[in-house]
Amino acid sequence: MTDATHPYDALMDITARPKAVFVRGAGSYLWDDSRKRYLDFVQGWAVNCLGHSPPAVADALAAQAKRLLTPSPAFYNGPSLALAQALVAQSAFDRVFFANSGAEANEGAIKLARKYGSLHKGGAFEIITFTGGFHGRTLATMSASGKKAFEPLFEPKVAGFKKARLNDTASVESLISANTVAVMLEPIQGEAGVWPATDKFLGELRALTKAHGLLLILDEIQTGMGRTGKLFHYEHAGIAPDIMTLGKGIGGGVPLAALLATEQASCFEHGDQGGTFNGNPLMCAAGLAVLEQVGKPDFLKAVTDTGLVLESELQRLSARHGLGEVRGRGLLLALDLKLPIGPAIVAQAFEAGVLVNSPQPDALRFMPALNVTRQEISEMIDCLDAILTRAGAARLVA
Ligand SMILES: *Cc1c(COP(=O)(O)O)cnc(C)c1O
Repeated sequence: MTDATHPYDALMDITARPKAVFVRGAGSYLWDDSRKRYLDFVQGWAVNCLGHSPPAVADALAAQAKRLLTPSPAFYNGPSLALAQALVAQSAFDRVFFANSGAEANEGAIKLARKYGSLHKGGAFEIITFTGGFHGRTLATMSASGKKAFEPLFEPKVAGFKKARLNDTASVESLISANTVAVMLEPIQGEAGVWPATDKFLGELRALTKAHGLLLILDEIQTGMGRTGKLFHYEHAGIAPDIMTLGKGIGGGVPLAALLATEQASCFEHGDQGGTFNGNPLMCAAGLAVLEQVGKPDFLKAVTDTGLVLESELQRLSARHGLGEVRGRGLLLALDLKLPIGPAIVAQAFEAGVLVNSPQPDALRFMPALNVTRQEISEMIDCLDAILTRAGAARLVA
């Protein structure tokens, strides 16, 4: 044991973090240990879909915690059965496997596709993924990701991922071989800076994968659970994928993820898949509380309406300061800055008590609570407006 001189030193230093220690959250606001308040448009990375510590989730967790924490993944439990049934009823899928993180759900999707290939496609195992894509931080999901910074890391990568270009159907078609079993993508590339796959492209991918007998896997970890105004993003494109993964918003702030598949694609046999905490009743109780609210048509309609408000406010901000386009859908939006001033804006907004994210140096990403108010949107926009006015966009370049 080392004698850590500062509490920060006891944690592995895996990313640059501000020194503030966060102690409380409610709705769109967070407080640190010096009682400073922050308006949060990051929400734990699009996780807290109902805001910080929503009463419905907190109550469901408290009630379930007193009743049963975990019986064992080898036994059924009520909340996981109820949540699986509710997800199946509201989606294009027939079967659900619960996981603890998005990466684990995607790892499961990759395994399921490989299993499908071994059973039905003569051992085909390759999955076509996309440049700029992000699927998580396990070895296989890093290998599936098309993130430039991952390329030199942790070699050798897991084999079997070929990278096509988003919104370029020909680039996908040219990679299909006898070894191909699936195409996997995020409907909106989140970490890459909010780059949407067009509905047309998703339609073409569905037709192409059907024609070649390939599985279409959608990583809806960021776009699912109402984030874009539909419960699942694929609904916008009028398609039904074979496999989908959910994470982030599904737990409303607690670690829960899911792998969903059609009956035909759901081909795991006993022993292929599992995990100690998978489908534990505590997290599934939270998921049920989230789905109960997010799955309501008027809730989803409000996400669409609020998303349009945020979009037009960002467009006005952009016009005032000579910035670029606004991308995305619903409440997953990015503002193109045209200059690498994202990190400087994030730092100044943090000082001013507003949390925004810069997934790429030339973009800001907005992923507020799905029940964020117009007043909170105005407050955030006013903060960015003041930063940009004070400095002038060009002078923010580091
Ligand atoms: C966040 C994210 C993941 C990884 O989820 P974790 O819970 O961090 O493992 C995978 N895919 C997408 C699209 C994500 O946004």
